[in-house]
Amino acid sequence: MTNYSIDNHWFDQLKKDHTFLIAGPCSAETSDQVLEIAHAVKGVASIFRAGIWKPRTRPGGFEGVGSIGLEWLRQVKEETGLPIGVEIATPEHVELALKYDIDVLWIGARTSVNPFAVQDIANVLKNTDRIVMLKNPVNPDMPLWMGGLERLLKAGIQKVALIHRGFSTYEKNKYRNVPEWQIPLDIKAQFPQIKMINDPSHITGNRSMIFDTAQMALDLNFDGLMIETHRSPDQAWSDAAQQVTPQALIEIVHTLKSRDLSNSEELFQMQLKNFRIEIDELDTNILKLLHKRMNLVEKIGYLKKEKNVAVFQQERWQEVLEKMKQNAKEYKLGEAFITDLYKAIHLESIARQGKIINNK
Ligand code: PEP
Ligand code: MN
Repeated sequence: MTNYSIDNHWFDQLKKDHTFLIAGPCSAETSDQVLEIAHAVKGVASIFRAGIWKPRTRPGGFEGVGSIGLEWLRQVKEETGLPIGVEIATPEHVELALKYDIDVLWIGARTSVNPFAVQDIANVLKNTDRIVMLKNPVNPDMPLWMGGLERLLKAGIQKVALIHRGFSTYEKNKYRNVPEWQIPLDIKAQFPQIKMINDPSHITGNRSMIFDTAQMALDLNFDGLMIETHRSPDQAWSDAAQQVTPQALIEIVHTLKSRDLSNSEELFQMQLKNFRIEIDELDTNILKLLHKRMNLVEKIGYLKKEKNVAVFQQERWQEVLEKMKQNAKEYKLGEAFITDLYKAIHLESIARQGKIINNK
């Protein structure tokens, strides 16, 4: 990574009881609503959030109260002392937010997909001392997210963080936006200094799943959480199903277990090392088996070439997948995991046979 200047002091200063939490409603609705929620969460929240410009997938939905909300949020800050965060999507939003002394400006998932938009925002925020957070783009594109981060860093913004809010899929799923944990973990590996915040509200879309997702994030050593909180979630003007009450939020925060990065105890280190040696051996065996499997796949490729038979055989693929899903049960391996694994193996197999058939 190029050497950018990163300032994380704000993060440690804002942590409360070891947890960094951004809480508040999806959308600011009335002055009374934001004030009531902010007072109710101020004991556990590091930052109060409220959307005032809401990017909606289709027109006609509630698009946010607009800049009047900035007045209400100013009052929230005055009364509770909580720093305020809002989503910004255009340079005009940034200018208004700065005028109202908003502490945290975050770029939403529908904006972070667009490098022009992120660059325009980075340009108006050049060298700002505000905290700027970048949500992952709606599509699972790691370089695009990273590119957005680099645009902010290049503009000399030193107080930066990322927010993992999951990724859209075409297929229906138990998540509103699938987490694809590997993506934020890969970015963390490349930018270890950048704080990574998990947003279980937008990942799950469902308040009953928030605790487990937030705990998973802490187990993976994420640095903080953003959880949408509303005084009467079912009546919320946006994202009703995923918001929790302040009471539920406080319970979630108190039940979550934060994890240490490591433990220096000798016994722990020794046991960990032994298990890892065994895992490394198994991983090598997995590769050996895959190598053998691919050799057979190639032999079949030559047979198909000789008889001019198509590479992709729908029935055979269904048969393999069904058999493996059945076998997986015996070995207590999840169906979704085995399906993904076999899709990857199958894709590699047909690519190899394709090359053989086409003499590549
Ligand atoms: C939000 O935080 O309310 C929001 C609109 O999120 P996202 O950009 O993740 O969809
Ligand atoms: Mn929302």
